[in-house]
Amino acid sequence: MKNKAEEQVLCARCKVDIENIESKNIVNPEYLKLLENPQRIVEINFPVKTESGLQIIKAYRVLYNDILGPGKGGIRFHFDVDAEEVTELAFIMTLKNSLVDIPFGGAKGAVAINPKDFSKEDVYKIARAYVKHMLDVLGEDKDIPAPDVGSDAEIMNAMREEYEKLTGKNSPAFITGKPTDKGGVPGRETATSLGGFFIFEEMHKKFIEKHLNEVKISIQGFGNVGAHFARIAYEYGYKVVAISDASLGLYNPEGLNIEELFNLTYPERKLLSEIDYEKYGDKIDSKDVLFVDADVLVPAALGGVINMQNCTDIKASFILELANAAILPNAEKALLDRGVTIVPDLLANSGGVIVSYFEWYANKNNLQFNEEEINKKLKDKILAAYQNIASTSETDKLSYREAAYKIAIERIGEKAKEEKIL
Ligand code: NAD
Repeated sequence: MKNKAEEQVLCARCKVDIENIESKNIVNPEYLKLLENPQRIVEINFPVKTESGLQIIKAYRVLYNDILGPGKGGIRFHFDVDAEEVTELAFIMTLKNSLVDIPFGGAKGAVAINPKDFSKEDVYKIARAYVKHMLDVLGEDKDIPAPDVGSDAEIMNAMREEYEKLTGKNSPAFITGKPTDKGGVPGRETATSLGGFFIFEEMHKKFIEKHLNEVKISIQGFGNVGAHFARIAYEYGYKVVAISDASLGLYNPEGLNIEELFNLTYPERKLLSEIDYEKYGDKIDSKDVLFVDADVLVPAALGGVINMQNCTDIKASFILELANAAILPNAEKALLDRGVTIVPDLLANSGGVIVSYFEWYANKNNLQFNEEEINKKLKDKILAAYQNIASTSETDKLSYREAAYKIAIERIGEKAKEEKIL
């Protein structure tokens, strides 16, 4: 998740989705009641001596619900966060983890700084201090952090070191998203895109009667998620006809050479406008990739990009929502009425947290997984969730998104019943 505006769209959309679930009586109201409030919100202020002097750092950790297992969710480093937003994001993690059937509750954390304002050493110092001051609420069987906006594998490693120093125990499973040579698992960087790709392949088999080299894909966003998705689809032989980033869009109805475009941009995080793009296709406006002639549209950039003003111009009959909250609720309704199939973000971009679960599991059981094993496990897990959504949607006459909410909420409700909470 990228920025404040996008998260506001995500949180606002989640509220509309829940109201919809409630008004249509899709789940037992008692289950929803169970999820009405977060279990724990911790807000702290702690002092850190940085290179520029004493700083008082504000930080959060919210455990929304742990009925299914210990909390799981990232820690973002972003100056503009508050308890309400972290709580809403922890709620979304609760649903996502439940939907994909991993034994985690939902949590989220934040450190209210702009990491770019500090030296790397100071950021690690702040990360270590966060762990020290949150020691009571974190732990491999309590609440397990991961990277998020503004944090990365090295910060996770610093946090793990601090935790081990304070507890005196070797605890790789305390945190996920670690560097691969320090307890992390291979394939995490591409897990979100690969998970989305596995679902896309299923959609192709089920709904699109075309050979794969005739299936046209258009992708908005050429960053971590979009560029890797494009690369994987291209490697498998699909035809990626349009891509875009913040600078421009490129369109070629015969298919773009994604291998070259990826190598020219992604490793150095260059924009399309910074390379010699003309030989690959026609330049189009960034937003126009949404409207080109394609079978499948993959928004992988920003929230709220598909709205009532533009949804009638979309030609694709499938949308794989890799970006959080890319589609606004009214637009979704209009698209569904037109027969467009939408795979919602809650499932489409769940590959990252699924692979985090494998990392935690490997660490706890002292196992090593290679990339092939991780990818196979990811495929099995994400496709099981997809099949569940597809069959619930068919049986109960629900959209995929409604089915995703139903499955996620019911799994929590049923576990609560088992534990005699309900
Ligand atoms: P990123 O910053 O690596 O890439 C974002 C891309 O979008 C860049 O290519 C950027 O140029 C492009 N972009 C920005 N504004 C644009 C515009 N107006 N039009 C077209 N393109 C534009 O981010 P990411 O990690 O790839 O995340 C993309 C989306 O996926 C976000 O919604 C994020 O919340 C979601 N997501 C990411 C992950 C993950 O593992 N990275 C996991 C879950 C969800």
